Amino acid sequence: QQAEVVQLDALLLDLCTRMQGKAAKFDLTLHTQLEPAVIWADQESLMQIFINLIDNAIKYNRPGGQIKVALFVDGNRVDVTVQDTGIGIPAEAHGKIFEPFYTVNRDRSRISGGTGLGLSLVKQLAEAQKGELALVKSGEDGTTFRVYFPLYNG
Ligand code: ATP
Ligand code: MG
Repeated sequence: QQAEVVQLDALLLDLCTRMQGKAAKFDLTLHTQLEPAVIWADQESLMQIFINLIDNAIKYNRPGGQIKVALFVDGNRVDVTVQDTGIGIPAEAHGKIFEPFYTVNRDRSRISGGTGLGLSLVKQLAEAQKGELALVKSGEDGTTFRVYFPLYNG
């Protein structure tokens, strides 16, 4: 891991642009709403974090659905949310999704789920960047994850 100054909005815009094609294949639209923000982090880890969250937002979505990646600066905190209009996570699973190898019943997704390592990796990588990963909400109308990072101030 190699921490450096990262223009996080530019990294996210680039990543979302590159993931548009995959989203379109599943009849999904991917939107961004990004304020400018600089953080101190490892670029490769940031890519892994957001590839995994967007990949989940694609895999567990519904045809014609939406994905929104938003970045807001809130005081000394950079707040990135990945929101989807997908199938949601049952309430009884909310406490387990960050455990390695945990998957909700794989029959429920259009594409068979993966190994269940994605979110545990995202959590580790976010914490290694002094960030924090949380499930904001999940229900019938979809799921929102949030990652906080400290704002870089010189
Ligand atoms: P992997 O990421 O290793 O390919 P995975 O996607 O199954 O496999 P995680 O990313 O760790 O594993 O997610 C764990 C489980 O949480 C998933 O199996 C899925 O059931 C549920 N989940 C994760 N993200 C979402 C989401 N955005 N909407 C609905 N369910 C989700
Ligand atoms: Mg995953």
